[in-house]
Amino acid sequence: MPFPRREYDAIVIGSGPNGLSAAITIAEAGRSVLLVEGDEIIGGGARSAELTLPGFIHDVCSSVHPWAVWSPFFRTLPLARYGLEFVHPGAPLAHPLDDGSAVILDRSVEVTAQNLGEDRARYLELMVPLTKSWPKLESTVQKPFGIPPHPFAAARFGLTVLRSAARVAKHDFRGERARALFAGLAAHAVLPLERVPSALFGFVLGIVAHTDGWPFARGGSQNIANALAQHLASFGGEILTNNSVDSIEQLPRARAMLFDVTPRQLLKIAGSRLPAGFRGKLERYRYGPGVCKLDWALDGPIPWKAAECARAGTVHVGGSFDEIAASERDCWEGKHSARPFVLLAQSTLFDPTRAPAGKHTAWGYCHVPNGSTMDMTDVIEKQIERFAPGFRKRVLKRSVRVAASLESYNPNLIGGDIGGGAADLEQFLLRPTRRFYRTPAKGIYLCSSSTPPGPGVHGLCGNLAARAALKDLF
Ligand SMILES: Cc1cc2nc3c(=O)[nH]c(=O)nc-3n(C[C@H](O)[C@H](O)[C@H](O)COP(=O)(O)OP(=O)(O)OC[C@H]3O[C@@H](n4cnc5c(N)ncnc54)[C@H](O)[C@@H]3O)c2cc1C
Repeated sequence: MPFPRREYDAIVIGSGPNGLSAAITIAEAGRSVLLVEGDEIIGGGARSAELTLPGFIHDVCSSVHPWAVWSPFFRTLPLARYGLEFVHPGAPLAHPLDDGSAVILDRSVEVTAQNLGEDRARYLELMVPLTKSWPKLESTVQKPFGIPPHPFAAARFGLTVLRSAARVAKHDFRGERARALFAGLAAHAVLPLERVPSALFGFVLGIVAHTDGWPFARGGSQNIANALAQHLASFGGEILTNNSVDSIEQLPRARAMLFDVTPRQLLKIAGSRLPAGFRGKLERYRYGPGVCKLDWALDGPIPWKAAECARAGTVHVGGSFDEIAASERDCWEGKHSARPFVLLAQSTLFDPTRAPAGKHTAWGYCHVPNGSTMDMTDVIEKQIERFAPGFRKRVLKRSVRVAASLESYNPNLIGGDIGGGAADLEQFLLRPTRRFYRTPAKGIYLCSSSTPPGPGVHGLCGNLAARAALKDLF
């Protein structure tokens, strides 16, 4: 492999948001760093491309960016200087229902509560204290499990959120509107909604919708990766693309090697340097369901029955709590739901730079069994038609990626799992092992979303892994 130099302080393998963040953290500390990416384009889960027709820019993986605007690490970086701009829709989220109405998750807790009928007071009781204490709590969720800096606030938070979504929906709320809204939020956990900690995902996504919003990156998610790469270059960090790393032996010498890959890939690349006991732990690491991803070029905006859906950047398409819960259970039981829960984003309503004048894009996916080769286009589009009759007539072209094919696009998407591994209670608390970023081998670290705080475009896994390496080695 044609490496620019024979030795670096650190090498990072993989240029996803976490790999870029790890490299930036090392470079900002004054150390030399090389970032090696297998694909020809940097960004991993933060890439955009013309997947359908010329002039239509689609986010290949991530599109909605609550974590990027929330990220305590990204907030320290001058990313706006490199052209990164976040576009906030009128409301973070809409959840249409069969009666033709929609629940709107607004930036304001009070406005959201007004949408929830009989659960108005209960939503306020839950969310007002959570959003108020969030500045104290966020350090608890952003780092590996340990003693929190505000133990009393964290204990109260834990008692509220460390439950299953089903328990919250059935015990805390009375009406279908609040239950459906919470089901959609919690389903981002990609867990059966009867399992702990699915409620945690629902609460945290709800809190961040109120405190930071769910914006898009203007022009596409690729601009997040590009801004991070420019910042890295400003500190002398080097990037080499088109270089897939198969073995650690291929790489130049470095005191620290940080892997923006999942445990299964680390075993292949560096397994020979890891003791058998630790290899066994990584072999037992579990991956969750995959996704079937669709992108549409549209002749016009989506014709939602509930017109207020057009205010929202993200739309949760799946109906009631029970339907969403059934759909999430199905993919864990190896079944393809006939009425899947669809996560949909409509960025061009708020960012016209991504499509020709008057035209639009939509981005969406549903959960499917890991490794699925099933094309879910028909059932996904039926679900959208249910709440937006006439949607199909607006489709100019569509692009489909079944779960199994996502892995060939990005090797971190094992079987189409977009979270870097299941986030069940054990793997949420000890991710991927109790060593978190570290391994027993000196100088070898994991820095991907298979480490805390887990999936999402926030760069914190990379930042925290690089901080561990700097502390241990430099
Ligand atoms: C369809 C989809 C939708 C998503 N939606 C959202 C969303 O809306 N909002 C959100 O916050 N998150 C979303 N995510 C999740 C988000 O993209 C990931 O959590 C995030 O990208 C993880 O970052 P990472 O750096 O850990 O890994 P990745 O972004 O996966 O990057 C890993 C990089 O490593 C490279 N690589 C892997 N193996 C090798 C090797 N052997 N040699 C060299 N390079 C290698 C890959 O090519 C890739 O570039 C979505 C993901 C998908 C797939």
